[in-house]
Amino acid sequence: MEKVVLSKLSLEELIDYIESIGEKKFRAQQIFSWIWAKNAKNFNNMTDVKKEFREFLEKNCLILDCKIKTRQISIDGTIKYLIEYKDGLCAEAVLMRFDNRSNLSMCVSCQVGCKMGCKFCATGKNGFKRNLSAYEIVSQILLCQIDTGLKITNVVFMGQGEPLDNFDNIKKAIYLINKNLQISIRRMTLSTSGIIPKINELADCELKPTLAISLHAPNHKIREQIMPIEKKFDIENLKKALKNYNDKTKDRITIEYILIGGLNDTKACALELVEFLKDLKCNINLIPYNSTDNDTYKKPTKKDLRFFKYILESSGKKVTIRLERGADIDAACGQLAGKVDLS
Ligand code: SAH
Ligand code: SF4
Repeated sequence: MEKVVLSKLSLEELIDYIESIGEKKFRAQQIFSWIWAKNAKNFNNMTDVKKEFREFLEKNCLILDCKIKTRQISIDGTIKYLIEYKDGLCAEAVLMRFDNRSNLSMCVSCQVGCKMGCKFCATGKNGFKRNLSAYEIVSQILLCQIDTGLKITNVVFMGQGEPLDNFDNIKKAIYLINKNLQISIRRMTLSTSGIIPKINELADCELKPTLAISLHAPNHKIREQIMPIEKKFDIENLKKALKNYNDKTKDRITIEYILIGGLNDTKACALELVEFLKDLKCNINLIPYNSTDNDTYKKPTKKDLRFFKYILESSGKKVTIRLERGADIDAACGQLAGKVDLS
């Protein structure tokens, strides 16, 4: 008989299961807490559960049905996990710790591969294999918590794949992360390349993470060179959707902008971007291009990066530069799945 995977069950379902095998309801609460809050590696760790019952669980149940295939640790402390699912496919998740902050951020993947094909990103290069289920997305965090014994405090949907192309599962994952892992929605960020109808849908959701938009260009001409999605959902319509999002939710949006040397990092681009963002309630996150196996693009110079930031700041917006994390293990933005065999 196939083993029951306990982390797939809600507390209510776990209670039903535990009662169906003749055990008391409070056992379900104990097990639930061992899995979601106390990082139990195995049933033996569940010390307040009586021994015979632990043996039953060992025989008939699993905590998770996916596993860590590889773990790489960067010199800056970033950890990249390759997680293997039941069907043998793998996805990556990245754990980031920032100096002087107690936050522990997990960057999760939502698809194996990606359909969007952005020119600067390694994830899309291997094509698209499949969506991850909500359970498979949440498992990335659970596995990492179990592996490190630490509590994740922040989640960013910025790993492999396009979250709004797998929106139903993302919505469920957000719910589970909030409910089971007790991570506040204010500590979650979802990044999208700009699927307009889904942005509109997100505006009406009850649980809304911070919305981050991969803009990467100040106009249609440059954006279409690097992001195929621009052909379907162009930058002017995207702006309308963002304005609508601002109005409806009152939330500030994050605008992500990869700076690619000589392509979109000029003074003219900065000024055009200021004009484009004028009416939007947003912060700007500049991301110096991280190298992938693609040598068409290059990083911006330090001087161009500083000047670009300076112009944007003079418009009164908050501008940050995203720290490069885990580049030595290909864990930085855009590098995921660049060098692993996904099949
Ligand atoms: N698919 C979503 C989320 C995952 S990508 C999206 O595109 O928004 C997470 C972030 O990394 C995005 O802003 C993406 O544009 C950026 N990124 C992709 N390739 C990159 C690269 N080579 N260098 C720097 N950032 C990159
Ligand atoms: Fe997909 Fe995002 Fe990479 Fe574009 S940047 S290919 S949307 S993962």
